[in-house]
Amino acid sequence: MDDANTAAVRHYTIACSCCGREYYDDGLILDCTAGHGPALLRTRYADSGFHPLTDRPGIFRYQRWLPVTGTQPDCGRTVVYRSSGLARLLRLPNLWIAFNGFWPERGATLQTATFKELEACTVLGRTPGSGVILTVASSGNTGAAFAWACSQRQLSCLIIIPENGLRRFKFRDSLHPCVNLVVVEDGDYPDAMQIASAVCRLPAFLPEGGVKNVGRRDGLATVLLSAFDEMRRLPDYYFQAVGSGTGAIAVLEAAKRVRDSTGEPAGSRPELPKLMLCQNLPFTPIFDAWRLGEREPTGSAEGFRHAVRQVYADELTNWLPPYATRGGVYDSLQESRGDVLVASSAAARQAAGTFLEVEGIDIEPAAGVAVACLQDAVARRRLNREATILLNITGGGRGRLAKDYCLVQAEPKLRLSRRLCEEDAVHQVAALCGAS
Ligand SMILES: [Zn+2]
Repeated sequence: MDDANTAAVRHYTIACSCCGREYYDDGLILDCTAGHGPALLRTRYADSGFHPLTDRPGIFRYQRWLPVTGTQPDCGRTVVYRSSGLARLLRLPNLWIAFNGFWPERGATLQTATFKELEACTVLGRTPGSGVILTVASSGNTGAAFAWACSQRQLSCLIIIPENGLRRFKFRDSLHPCVNLVVVEDGDYPDAMQIASAVCRLPAFLPEGGVKNVGRRDGLATVLLSAFDEMRRLPDYYFQAVGSGTGAIAVLEAAKRVRDSTGEPAGSRPELPKLMLCQNLPFTPIFDAWRLGEREPTGSAEGFRHAVRQVYADELTNWLPPYATRGGVYDSLQESRGDVLVASSAAARQAAGTFLEVEGIDIEPAAGVAVACLQDAVARRRLNREATILLNITGGGRGRLAKDYCLVQAEPKLRLSRRLCEEDAVHQVAALCGAS
């Protein structure tokens, strides 16, 4: 075992999903060092049983299966309930909702109104100490979750987003100056990723790591853990709108962990939920690759940029998803015998309106895409109506939050153009963060 941190006795180790090499976690490791192709690392917990800690707040209820030390008092978690309104409308008696957002009557308290807050709390709980600038590229929601969490804890961070993600940066309070928010004014999510990647070559900046960060995935995995806690079984189908697909990969990893915790012999263990991943037409790289049986999404950056302008759910517009990576989207779809579905912007917008009407809370565009795809799957008789279905409402209650509180729009400290040369962009960002 590679000895990154023998001093700290942890409740988990980290193992490579390709070669099985095992590591102690130094809180930073993102890749296997064995020199094979891209492969996700996974946590391996000492406690293989599902044992929620009922006295812990938020996601720390599942701390035995989180790569963190200590708890953080302001973390919420997913609220899971059996649907009545949407279930009646779609005639799905076993429809469950995993609600991530702000909905006080149901106990949902996520301050940035999406499930990205689950990953931000976990990543910050894994990252060791201070002295580095945690760097996150985002289409908007992940950046907002990290900005808020870092602001609350006064941890230095650099958040890079495209201009159209800025509208998601409304908070109950002003952000602490430790949050360095940078906007790519004429760019898209992958442009933000590119600048973040270049900046992270400087030692002061610590890349958050995206899908490769086990903290991020195990934080998102708590959606499934909350569901199992409430439902006492695994769902037959799991519906979620995807951009990178990180949340869906994480849910499948959690489902396997839960399945293996039952102690049943291989033949009688519960089946894994089928991942039903949902994308917003015309921005559908995962749908296209899956339908064509390709191992990599194809398409030109300019084609994707054009499609980005036409979608309702721009938080799903990642054209570099971890599709072919070992343990990534393709492998997860194969292993779960899942599928990829699509919805038009009009259908997603209408579905969000329907959800508000029958369930009683506003939802994010991405969640509208998932609801629209579920409706369509039912209409096309692609599901057994008696099946147990878990619908991930990945974000909701933003409207409700704005009604309850006077929200403050965060302003970027720096605006960049994607046409700026990389060296100049890095120089400006480093100067902003006092790291040049
Ligand atoms: Zn390996």
